[in-house]
Amino acid sequence: MTEEKNSATRRNDQNSNSVTNILSVDIEDYYQVEGFKKKIAFSEWEKYESRFHLGLEWLLHILDSHKTKATFFILGWIAERHPQWISEILRKGHEIGVHGWRHRRIDALTPDEFRADIMRTIELLKGLGVDDLRGHRAPSFSITPGTRWAWEIIDECGLKYDASLSARYFPAKNAPWVCSNPGPQRFKFNETKGIDLFPQAYLPLFDHIPFAGGGYFRLYPYKLTHWGMKRWNSRGVPVMVYVHPWEFDPDQPQFKVNLPRRFKHYVNLETNREKFAQLLQDFKFAPCRDFL
Ligand SMILES: [Zn+2]
Repeated sequence: MTEEKNSATRRNDQNSNSVTNILSVDIEDYYQVEGFKKKIAFSEWEKYESRFHLGLEWLLHILDSHKTKATFFILGWIAERHPQWISEILRKGHEIGVHGWRHRRIDALTPDEFRADIMRTIELLKGLGVDDLRGHRAPSFSITPGTRWAWEIIDECGLKYDASLSARYFPAKNAPWVCSNPGPQRFKFNETKGIDLFPQAYLPLFDHIPFAGGGYFRLYPYKLTHWGMKRWNSRGVPVMVYVHPWEFDPDQPQFKVNLPRRFKHYVNLETNREKFAQLLQDFKFAPCRDFL
């Protein structure tokens, strides 16, 4: 772990009852998710109605009302077609990060393909006025022991942190990633050199069971998420929450896919706005940049 301390970390040291957590949003549309990849080819994306802005508008509004800023990791493909949303997110004072160009898992790419994919996105975002671009999140938390070369490329591309390490691989008790982090907070491996890592949060007492984001947040009773966050926070550990705009759009078109995929994508969509509003009420949040 690094020794230097930022404002959010200092606040957390001072008062563990009011720990600031990390809020992240992955901007992709409902038809671009990994679970529908076999059903919807990339070449067909243009045919689908774009709806990400419906959930995004709601998110921006509720974040404003709680005076909360977040990190928005965005697909290059979306930013190129809807640049006005980049301006709007920046205007409201949030952070923008990279979510790849077209939502391909890193373990489906070669190092050269990955470099080209994120560089294309970085150049586009900088051209759209994102001057302070620091972070990366891989689609589906897909940096694995076999694709940890990605961190070196993220570093080479000039970014400062990565938020793609799945709870499946963290905490890491076995080689090649051994570390004794007492919770899912920001850390560094020696091999990540210049960049910081923000791992996906796991439930206290249950290593490798994710919570506080995506389908886990929608599926688990709110009381469980609340308990997990309170417990980590009582130890001074911030929790990284992640959501998607399509998770706040219960009227999105539904695809006929197998039952596990249907469940994962559609479970509790209709109650998610209310649940997330409660989370903002109960906990404090800041973007990743505040923890660097
Ligand atoms: Zn994604």
